[in-house]
Amino acid sequence: MAASSLEILKSVYGYDAFRGPQARIVGHVIDGNNAFVLMPTGGGKSLCYQIPAIARPGMGLVVSPLLALMADQVAALRQAGIRAAALNSDLSPDERRDLWRAIATGALDLLYIAPETLLRPDVLDRLDGVKLSLIAIDEAHCLSQWGHDFRPSYRQLDAVVARFADTPRMALTATADEPTRAEILSHLGIAEIDAFIAGFDRPNIRYAIEEKDNPRAQLKDFLRRHEDESGIVYCLSKRKTEETAEWLRGEGHDALAYHAGMDKAAREANQRRFQHGEAVIMVATIAFGMGIDKPDVRFVVHIDLPGSIEAYYQETGRAGRDGLAADTLMLYGHDDIALRGRFIEESDAPEQRKRMERQKLDALLGLAETAGCRRQVLLSYFGDRCEPCGNCDTCAEPPTLFDGTIAAQKALSCIYRTGERFGQAYIADVLLGVGNERIAGFGHDRISTFGIGTEHDNRTWRAILRQLIALRLIDVDLAGHGGLSIAPAGRDFLRDKPTLMLRAPRPPRARRGKVARS
Ligand code: ADP
Ligand code: ZN
Repeated sequence: MAASSLEILKSVYGYDAFRGPQARIVGHVIDGNNAFVLMPTGGGKSLCYQIPAIARPGMGLVVSPLLALMADQVAALRQAGIRAAALNSDLSPDERRDLWRAIATGALDLLYIAPETLLRPDVLDRLDGVKLSLIAIDEAHCLSQWGHDFRPSYRQLDAVVARFADTPRMALTATADEPTRAEILSHLGIAEIDAFIAGFDRPNIRYAIEEKDNPRAQLKDFLRRHEDESGIVYCLSKRKTEETAEWLRGEGHDALAYHAGMDKAAREANQRRFQHGEAVIMVATIAFGMGIDKPDVRFVVHIDLPGSIEAYYQETGRAGRDGLAADTLMLYGHDDIALRGRFIEESDAPEQRKRMERQKLDALLGLAETAGCRRQVLLSYFGDRCEPCGNCDTCAEPPTLFDGTIAAQKALSCIYRTGERFGQAYIADVLLGVGNERIAGFGHDRISTFGIGTEHDNRTWRAILRQLIALRLIDVDLAGHGGLSIAPAGRDFLRDKPTLMLRAPRPPRARRGKVARS
């Protein structure tokens, strides 16, 4: 009788229980269904295809992009008594012959194979006669043309799964935003109901996002809560890492810089000091990340806007690997958003890629501007879910909401009447009725929306405009000078006038400081 999946988990891996959605996924595939598995690195994806491959009759075919990765997995499985092998170009003719004999006689549970090898007509022909238990495509995001790890051979795997149409197919990845996920599902013909997405929550990490108004003061405030702890401060530019590290040293911290422009020896020396030191602050560009395995990173700060929600998740995820409480802070300002937008517009990427990058930036703004739980927004981006977490800034201190319907109408109509080409600062000035030469020069001191917004201050108007951008009622001309125009949803809003709740800006820092001290 075939062993149950739980028995395999115990006998082969020595674990007592499945983790998260593993049990459901394993059962689903053993029953002969397809599956898409999205789990963060370390979440335990391997078991999800290995156990069904062992439990089902036939040989499991595992497509993996990296030889080294395959070798490790095969060695570990063999150690546990599983009949696993890798078919790759390193094999001698004799080894190859023996391996094919084992495959043909049903003597293997799992065969690892690189996509390029699998796509060879002779290999496919020989596999035609083999009983397959499943086809698992690991690192499935490699098939996405717009992703960072695109591998053309992955793109052709659709033909392979079609050829073995009756064999359950699995696609597994740790990195897939919504568009990439959809691309994987449709390309490999896996249905939405076969998608399993989980394990993204890092409950010990606290999330907080603040508007950038005085970054150094904000950083200093944050670090006051983290004396004698190690952490990472991410900056956008190399120069800024140097300047910030120097400033922090002047403030009495043990701060080091890290960026790709430093020579290798200095970079490695700093990495080692961070790795082994206590209370070391690494001020770094995103070049710092790969290969950090310091379990007790207690905090991560972004003093500039990260590149995307995925980048934010990855970078904050370097905190608290030991499972103990970890703290994060992201600062963002309108300049950051405009800069990120310019990066996108000025790149040589094809239009489809730019469109995707713009969507990613929008999603990040949505996270920054949300009045709800940050963790819920973050996890929903990966298709995962949670209850309001109680461990983020908006849960701890829910933002005050106000009815912003009228304000939004005024803002949109002001953008419309000034010709849909001016930036945030200008629009706020017109709403507030500020008399200046530029406004007078355009005759905008004589339009009906001049001075109709005096019930709010400049700060509030900027917060309103930012939220209308995040809500996609307003478009920003990122290629030009950040001119605002009315988006399609903004036109709908003006027509239908639904109630719109907006978050009030938090009081300025100076006042917050006083409240805290009194
Ligand atoms: P991924 O491929 O998702 O990055 P792995 O499959 O390599 O993750 O698993 C990460 C680690 O977690 C491995 O050391 C693995 O043995 C361990 N692991 C996986 N599932 C379980 C489980 N149910 N119980 C305990 N440890 C597990
Ligand atoms: Zn929360």
